[in-house]
Amino acid sequence: MSNVIDTFRLVGKMALITGGGRGIGKAISVALAEAGATIIIMDKDEVSARNAIYEIQGNGGSAFFLKGDVTSNKDVIEVVKQVVKQLGRIDVLVNDAGIVRNVKAEEMSWSDWFDVINVNLNGLFLMCQQVGRQMIKQKNGSIINISSMSANIVNWPQPQCSYNAAKAAVSHLTKSLAMEWAMHNIRVNAIAPGYISTELTKYGLTTEWGKTWIDLTPQKRVGTPEELGGLAVYLASEASSYVTGSIIVIDGGYSIV
Ligand code: NDP
Repeated sequence: MSNVIDTFRLVGKMALITGGGRGIGKAISVALAEAGATIIIMDKDEVSARNAIYEIQGNGGSAFFLKGDVTSNKDVIEVVKQVVKQLGRIDVLVNDAGIVRNVKAEEMSWSDWFDVINVNLNGLFLMCQQVGRQMIKQKNGSIINISSMSANIVNWPQPQCSYNAAKAAVSHLTKSLAMEWAMHNIRVNAIAPGYISTELTKYGLTTEWGKTWIDLTPQKRVGTPEELGGLAVYLASEASSYVTGSIIVIDGGYSIV
């Protein structure tokens, strides 16, 4: 029987991470690599993804970059095809790619609404569908969707109704896929972070918004991307073998009230 630490190891596992070039996706890529996984970063921006790859390789890990936009079904099909061709399988999928537009509902353009739903929800579904088909063939896999506490609460004071709606859908899609694919030995879970210091929150953190965010967070600070790495390793690994359809919040206590 393996000891508990061994169940967290990801040696020999192939992990595909969308948006892995920076922020939360990069921190999760680094953490999964430290646990032993081979990392494939799918991102739109090759320059920042290369930095993530070099960091992982510098730590003695294995990492590759494949350029792709999650909203393009053509890109999604091609990336999944390339990973399977080159590495044989996909054991872990992390759907991290996401965007936000802080626009008031009454002033929002159709493209602002559509872009957020398209990247955060439609792109995530395309990835789940394409990788899910491969995992069904393998009869094994773990999918980790990066949702948000915004799936459960409405952020204040910044307006972001499209983002909140998309993340609520991501959390429920996670449970729906967990139900459909449990029979194929595929687990589907989500991480729901609170405020994390990244490019996505950079502007807000320099304004009064940031002060309000910290004030409303019981731990009185924002989180770092690295603070999500441990949970990602847990959900990717055999340590969480009986966990599926779970949405796990990491938010410094923001959602307590
Ligand atoms: P960042 O903006 O730092 O990183 C997002 C990454 O996703 C970038 O590398 C970006 O690449 C990539 N990306 C965006 N659109 C696409 C696309 N269409 N196809 C492929 N890659 C894409 O954000 P975070 O690290 O903060 O956020 C990561 C995830 O975590 C998101 O889903 C976000 O909603 C979620 N989250 C973040 C929180 C926070 O406080 N930061 C809180 C809760 C959830 P490029 O720059 O080239 O577009």
